[in-house]
Amino acid sequence: MWVLDVASIGTLALDGNPETERAIDALDEADPLKRLRGEFELPAGLIYLDGNSLGALPKRAADRVHRVTVQEWGQELIRAWVSAGWVDLPRSIGSKLAPLLGAGSDEVIVADSTSVNLFKCICAAADINKGRTTILTERGDFPSDVYMAEGVERVTQGRLRHRAVEREDVATCIDGDTAVVVLSHVHYRSARVHDMKGLTARARDAGALIVWDLSHAAGAIRIDLGAAGADFAVGCGYKYLNGGPGAPAFVFAARRHHATMRSPLPGWFGHMAPFSFADSYRPADGIARFACGTPAILGMSALDASLDVLQGVDIGEIERKGRSLGQLFIALVEHNCPDLVLASPREAEQRGCHVAFRHADGYAIMWALIERGVIGDFRDADVLRFGFAPLYVRYRDVLEAARVLHDVLTSGSWREPRYRERAAVT
Ligand SMILES: *Cc1c(COP(=O)(O)O)cnc(C)c1O
Repeated sequence: MWVLDVASIGTLALDGNPETERAIDALDEADPLKRLRGEFELPAGLIYLDGNSLGALPKRAADRVHRVTVQEWGQELIRAWVSAGWVDLPRSIGSKLAPLLGAGSDEVIVADSTSVNLFKCICAAADINKGRTTILTERGDFPSDVYMAEGVERVTQGRLRHRAVEREDVATCIDGDTAVVVLSHVHYRSARVHDMKGLTARARDAGALIVWDLSHAAGAIRIDLGAAGADFAVGCGYKYLNGGPGAPAFVFAARRHHATMRSPLPGWFGHMAPFSFADSYRPADGIARFACGTPAILGMSALDASLDVLQGVDIGEIERKGRSLGQLFIALVEHNCPDLVLASPREAEQRGCHVAFRHADGYAIMWALIERGVIGDFRDADVLRFGFAPLYVRYRDVLEAARVLHDVLTSGSWREPRYRERAAVT
């Protein structure tokens, strides 16, 4: 895979060297994705490097939510469930998403949150794999992935046991008692990528099922759940898919499990015939049984419109650009900001589309950056995260962000006490 060779931009100094400036502008000019930036509403003067936490607003999503609210909800009222196709959205958005995941159009549904979908998939997988007792997770993975495994242990009163192991031990700890393995394809802090194909094969060989969390991968890098032979997967709609704050999440289940899998949350929307109001639950066919309650149509509509931005876009180009932006940022920061320590893989192929650096005062530094118009975020203890959403971040933004970061560090402006006050959301 071709990823930017940073040597091609000349000097890495942030002194406005004309050769570097020209090289950066040439990269933006040659970017095959450059027209997509115009799809987004982006505040002037802001460099947004947090699309891995909350994707920017696609103009289409704003238009769509307005139409759904005023016309469909306002005028059609309850008739819109059918007349505007609301009732079909969970499945139709799932089909739209499927090619990005390497899934069949009948293998994906949009429903609930990623956290809730993790619970559903862990239970469904363990139910298929009766007789085995361990749910294996990676220590330090995203909290919900670990908490949900703990929760399943609790609700099964210990019949299923949760075991969290170090990242490097995951493969060897999958054994004859492992019912389910839960892993993130791209780690939320380090952006390190797991070998989906290798670990899925390892699980299969040991008779375990695997649930992949694609939250930081979907819409950022190439994913092929089908080729890997994955069993289940979940992921967020509001990160690189730009579905809006709290957008509904997705669930994938491989076709071979459709006939036997059971949701632990048998809500009426996953029933074979919801409007029969039957006295007992009969699951809908296939992936539809992973729906639970009434879908949140405003959020669904925003996600549906947002995914249209990705239609026809080569995910390989997205991956390549995201990693190139990251490569450029790493080179500029390491050259100019020696106090920051890289906490992501240096090799582009081992990363998703964000980059993490460590600094003991990372929290204050991030707030000083945000005040200067460069938005990234902060995670646990000392990690600064910078997301390079390939659809709207430019090489020019990377250069400017590195310049501001260098400025904040050398001026020491982050030392002001107000940057240390903890906010509720970071
Ligand atoms: C962001 C993220 C989530 C978020 O789950 P929600 O239920 O949407 O809050 C879950 N898993 C991973 C790996 C994430 O990065």
